[in-house]
Amino acid sequence: MNAMTFSLRRLGRKALACLCALACLVSLAACGSDAEAGKIRIGIKFDQPGLGFKKSGTYVGFDVDVAKYVARQLGYSEDEIVWKEAPSKQREAMLQNGDVDMILATYSITDARKNAVSFAGPYFVAGQDLLVRKDDTSIKGPEDLNGKRLCSVTGSTSATTVKEKFANEVQLMEQPGYAECATALFSGIVDAVTTDDIILAGLASASRGKLRVVGKPFTQEYYGVGIKKGDKAFAKKINAAIESMIEDGSWQRAVAENTKGTGYKPNAEYNPPKPTEGE
Ligand code: GLU
Repeated sequence: MNAMTFSLRRLGRKALACLCALACLVSLAACGSDAEAGKIRIGIKFDQPGLGFKKSGTYVGFDVDVAKYVARQLGYSEDEIVWKEAPSKQREAMLQNGDVDMILATYSITDARKNAVSFAGPYFVAGQDLLVRKDDTSIKGPEDLNGKRLCSVTGSTSATTVKEKFANEVQLMEQPGYAECATALFSGIVDAVTTDDIILAGLASASRGKLRVVGKPFTQEYYGVGIKKGDKAFAKKINAAIESMIEDGSWQRAVAENTKGTGYKPNAEYNPPKPTEGE
């Protein structure tokens, strides 16, 4: 493609963007904001049992419970919440584009992400771990990954950590979500799935005993509430809500209810955390 066609194409795209913006101004309905007026738009996972899970039109899990509590403290009832799916790879862009007001989606607070967005929280601390087939005793920790095939999710800290720490020994397959990774593990396409222990506990439980968590976490993942970059006042309000959720016992109840039957216990050394981020 020569420079001329390239710039023409760019021009075309720009013109289209302008037209869309204009359409939005003229007709609010064109932007979908009619249905969303006066509501809070929250990004969650739809496919992580125990955390953010879409179940016949309703949303359940620990992230959902924290999101509902925070929303209530901000003045929104449950039917004033618009839930949106926020896959790992799309979270920063969704906040930057203004598609959502906040994201609670097992979203680790990291310096790299803080270049693009801000966080409130943390509201939970997990740790990266491994999920294997029930009868596979060859993987007892990350040191046993030599020559193994591993699955994780694009845009996650889990995939980044593998690439940074075990790049030479491991064959990494990336998927859009952890459910796809669990399927690959079932069918023998990979030997392990890696991400946060609490996510893996939910997947193991949903597998009815076919998969198990190794149980040797090797990072700390501080779950934050993703918000638009620099909104300190919003972070302060969210932190106050998390604080109150921990103080009145709702946080403990939400953890217990959403991990029931999985055998998962949050690391008591780090939980519950102090929400001071982003203020
Ligand atoms: N907490 C990690 C992250 O934010 C892994 C879980 C996820 O992908 O949501 O990347």
